[in-house]
Amino acid sequence: MPIKNRISDFQDEMIEWRHHFHANPEIAYKEKNTAKKIVELLKKFNVDSIETGFGKTGVVATIKNGKGKNIGLRADMDALPITEENIHAKHCSKEKGKMHACGHDGHTTMLLGAAKYLAETKNFNGQVTLIFQPAEEGFAGAKAMIDDGLLEKYPIDEIYGMHNMPNLDEGILAVEEGARLAAADNFEIIINGKGSHAAMPAKSIDPIVCGAALIQNLQSIVSRNTNPKETLVFTVATFNAGIANNVIPDNAILSGTIRYYNRDIGNLAKKQLFNITENTCKTFGAKPTINFKAGYPPTVNHKTNSKFAYEVAKKVVGEKASPHQSPMMGSEDFSYFLEKVPGAFAWIGNGASAALHNPKYDFNDNILSIGSSFLASLAEEKLIK
Ligand SMILES: [Zn+2]
Ligand SMILES: [Zn+2]
Repeated sequence: MPIKNRISDFQDEMIEWRHHFHANPEIAYKEKNTAKKIVELLKKFNVDSIETGFGKTGVVATIKNGKGKNIGLRADMDALPITEENIHAKHCSKEKGKMHACGHDGHTTMLLGAAKYLAETKNFNGQVTLIFQPAEEGFAGAKAMIDDGLLEKYPIDEIYGMHNMPNLDEGILAVEEGARLAAADNFEIIINGKGSHAAMPAKSIDPIVCGAALIQNLQSIVSRNTNPKETLVFTVATFNAGIANNVIPDNAILSGTIRYYNRDIGNLAKKQLFNITENTCKTFGAKPTINFKAGYPPTVNHKTNSKFAYEVAKKVVGEKASPHQSPMMGSEDFSYFLEKVPGAFAWIGNGASAALHNPKYDFNDNILSIGSSFLASLAEEKLIK
């Protein structure tokens, strides 16, 4: 069962869809025309049901054949607020300031390819639920769909998804159990001090000196509070204070991000962020305001589903299947699905290309039929007749 011949047959059609999505990018929760195009194609494929407006702009469709399990396949469909710098390709973005720089145009197309094939062949026993998700790029479209009742209305037993990976050899399918992408929490700390003339520091509560000490103290969360076998990134990325060289300002503002794979480590980092900030500020007589924003949870692949997906990948791409998928410190909102439903998230090699979120990035059309075959095979192998 290598790449499905039937899917290869309509590879050119898939390229057309992909180029259409690439040329007409829409960002988070604005994917109206993208959803419209998806619905138009799904209708042509004769899927069994189509529902729009899930999680604002998401689309859910089903293909049914018998009473077996219900397998969810998910693709994200949003673009990024980036101006494309590719000039060679005829499918370049027509929208200045918007671009499919993360390959979600390709992900959507691969799921549409699987949908066309599965609706046509129905060589499975059960239900395939196709999830076209909005707003993956920072706006938690997966959570929006779940909050909208996705899992109650479509009680899927397992879920699978994938992301292309630039500079991973073209067509490699890599999937491994455990934490694959990090959680990403964000924080802002306002140090409320007291300004004064810079020549009279004793009259001030200097938020800059306090902030400098605070940044140093926060480093000890990684170096002294965290088990060295665990992964934690704690970065203070901005430190803004003052406007004149002879004035101590009233306040300073710091902000940063926390990345981790293990929820307990994330909780520890958050607790210590508050502890250290409050106590350091107290030492200097300053008062902190801490704004903490929890981001995407870690993306953790389930054991048996990862093993299953790897076995399917082997059938599709042979030696190009890999049971090793390097964990990354980036984050992905597929994590919300994996917190509720067993499943796995795979990488598909995009071959030599610009990095994700780079204005020169483009999805590799050569991998469309591979990715589609993988998705279709996951459904067929799980729902054997
Ligand atoms: Zn992205
Ligand atoms: Zn992405």
